Amino acid sequence: MEIFDHLRVRLNNERQRLEEELMGISKRDPHQKGEWTVKAPEFNSALSDASETSDVFEEMDIRTSVEHQLKGRLDEVNAALKRIDEGIYGICDKCSKEIEEKRLDANPASITCVEHGGDIN
Ligand SMILES: [Zn+2]
Repeated sequence: MEIFDHLRVRLNNERQRLEEELMGISKRDPHQKGEWTVKAPEFNSALSDASETSDVFEEMDIRTSVEHQLKGRLDEVNAALKRIDEGIYGICDKCSKEIEEKRLDANPASITCVEHGGDIN
């Protein structure tokens, strides 16, 4: 169905953008497929004092939460793309009814209908 082709393009674009953002702050975990490890910010330990060390911890905290959000969204996007391949895209995961077109347009990664979404997404 062409409507899904259009959404597939959007999902692929979003996946690319998310992966680029993830690569800025983290790297693929070589031991766990699909997992990412946050990169530590560079700092010169020879010059470091207590405040710089706490800056690094703060930066790591920020990166970890950003990574968490990006990764969560990437998982959703990948799951939606997988559903397109499996031919079950656009079908609510909870009630097997068709997902409203408006909802898919607002969030192509939706896997539930409005009734079962629980949020606006
Ligand atoms: Zn439903």
